Amino acid sequence: HNAAVITIDGPGGSGKGTICRLLAQRLGWQLLDSGAIYRVLALAAMHHHIAYDDEEALQPLAAHLDVQFGSDEQGNIRITLEGENVTNTIRTEQVGMVASTIASLPRVREALLRRQRAFAEAPGLVADGRDMGTVVFPNAIVKIFLTATPEERANRRYLELKAKGHDVNISDLLSEIQARDDRDTNRAAAPLKPAADAYILDSTDKSIEQVLAEVLDYAGMKV
Ligand code: C5P
Repeated sequence: HNAAVITIDGPGGSGKGTICRLLAQRLGWQLLDSGAIYRVLALAAMHHHIAYDDEEALQPLAAHLDVQFGSDEQGNIRITLEGENVTNTIRTEQVGMVASTIASLPRVREALLRRQRAFAEAPGLVADGRDMGTVVFPNAIVKIFLTATPEERANRRYLELKAKGHDVNISDLLSEIQARDDRDTNRAAAPLKPAADAYILDSTDKSIEQVLAEVLDYAGMKV
C-alpha cells in the first residue's frame, strides 16, 4: 500500500471514532473503522452460534466475512452484515465484549489483515483501532495514541449510547470498559499499546474541537 496513512489507536471511548471521521472528512481521505469489523465479526459469530474461543471456526468466518461499509441518504456511514443493516446493533457493550474476546485470537486477526490494508487507497487513509500503528500500518506517516481516563470514557459511551436510544447504566459501562481495556491490553496478539513512534494525546479535559486541532497541528507537520 502506497497511500499515506494516519493511524489513531486507543481504548474505547477515547474519541478515536469521532476524531477519525472528522479528520478523514477534512483531508478527503478514506476511513477505516477496524473496531467495526471486529464488532461485525462478533455479531456473525453470535448469529451462527459459534463459540467465542473456537478459533478453528472463527478463522474462516473472519476470512469470508460479508461486511460492507456504505453510506445512507444523509451521508452517514451504514454498515451491513450479509446485507442486513447492523450499524446500530454492533455498538452495544455486549457486542464490544464479544468482539474483544474474539479479537484475542491470532488467526482471526491474521484473517482480517489483508481486508484492513485494502482500505489504504489514494489520496490517503485515516485508520482507527487498537493495532493500526503497531501491526496493520507500521509505516504510517503519522501515528497517534488517543487516551482518556476510564471515567471520562464511560461517561462519553453513556451519552453516545443513550442518544441512540439504548438503555444503559453508567457504572455497568465503567466496569465493562475496564474489563475490555484489560483484555485488549494484556492479550498476546497485537495488544493495545502505543507504537514506539506514536504521539500520545490525552483527551480527558479536551473538547472534540481541541483534540482535532491538536491532531491536525501534529499531522500538519508531516502530511
Ligand atoms: O473500537 P471498538 O470499541 O469498536 O472495538 C471493539 C473491539 O474490537 C475492541 O475492544 C478490541 O478488542 C477489538 N479491536 C481490535 N483491534 C482493532 C480494533 C478493535 O482488537 N484494530
